[in-house]
Amino acid sequence: MKTIPPFRLKPEPLNEAAKNLPKFKWAGDNIGTRHQLGGEPTYIQAKIHPVCPDCKEKMTFYAQLDSINDEFCIADCGMIYVFVCLECNTVEAFIESF
Ligand SMILES: [Zn+2]
Repeated sequence: MKTIPPFRLKPEPLNEAAKNLPKFKWAGDNIGTRHQLGGEPTYIQAKIHPVCPDCKEKMTFYAQLDSINDEFCIADCGMIYVFVCLECNTVEAFIESF
């Protein structure tokens, strides 16, 4: 399993609608800013590490994508976790939340 070096992802609005989107009203400070590429996932619940359905090897953690705001909230201020097998080009994704 290859590990991708960690990057923090900072969303850049691409139009006025995105720029003017309201932020979370009540969520904790870091909610909405936990987007990340590579490194180790910051799990909210169970430390799930998928294996590739094809080659059965542990998959590479590719990204975690945070909730955006109260309107675009993943479960309860959750995140989407994406894993990839770089050998087979398979992807697994799941949600964790509080
Ligand atoms: Zn594979």
